[in-house]
Amino acid sequence: MRYYILTLFPEMVLSALTTSIIGKAAQKGIIGIETVNIRDFTKDRHQKVDDYPYGGGAGMVMQAQPIYDAYRSVAEQIGRRPRTVYLTPQGRTFTQAAAKELAQQEELLFLCGHYEGVDERVLEEIVTDYVSIGDYVLTGGELAAMVMVDAISRMVPGVLTNEESAFMESFEGNLLEYPQYSRPVEWNGKRVPDVLLSGDHKKVEDWRREQSILRTREFRPDLLRKAKLTIREKAVYGVNDRG
Ligand code: SAM
Repeated sequence: MRYYILTLFPEMVLSALTTSIIGKAAQKGIIGIETVNIRDFTKDRHQKVDDYPYGGGAGMVMQAQPIYDAYRSVAEQIGRRPRTVYLTPQGRTFTQAAAKELAQQEELLFLCGHYEGVDERVLEEIVTDYVSIGDYVLTGGELAAMVMVDAISRMVPGVLTNEESAFMESFEGNLLEYPQYSRPVEWNGKRVPDVLLSGDHKKVEDWRREQSILRTREFRPDLLRKAKLTIREKAVYGVNDRG
């Protein structure tokens, strides 16, 4: 997987994506992260990349030409038009399922907007996916791109050392993950549940499944409606098609 991130603030993106698990995966060459500074492609002699919106209104709009030329430099480098995500509050909300699907690509290009957004004409020309990371407005697309690169990379084989850990996590089968505990057995007067110390794998598995269902019912009843539960589980936890 190779990511190309078109941005006005490459240092912001790189600072987050060169550390920890994602940074290690990049060092090992399992993923590649390349930032493309949109400003490097402006033909304006003052290095401008934005201008006032036609029709008036507050703020500035990122102009089409530098973005299009930055995009073309990537397309020429890889020899095809890449799948191109424009980060926007107007897009489809990003989910774990979308992360898995995007992780199948060989390369992904992210376009980070800023100011009031981007000239519509270049979006029409290059964007394949309009994606939002949630119903709120950020100052720029960089944080959103970082969120997406992090979540997608975890789905790329070899990025997580123990692939089981992605397999069992929240949202798998539309359930949230069970609670986790580590040493010591007792902390602040609270003990780790006895079942986790029993050494009985079947009991541990049953307890975790139960906790996952209870948690999902409490925090995300909307997810539970979509979860694959047995007829017995539905009866025990009082889940019907209406939740
Ligand atoms: N005027 C735009 C609108 O109302 O749709 C919002 C522009 S926002 C201030 C600047 C940039 O931040 C956007 O172009 C987009 O790239 C990014 N952005 C803001 N909120 C986002 C979100 N929830 N998800 C993804 N990107 C977002």
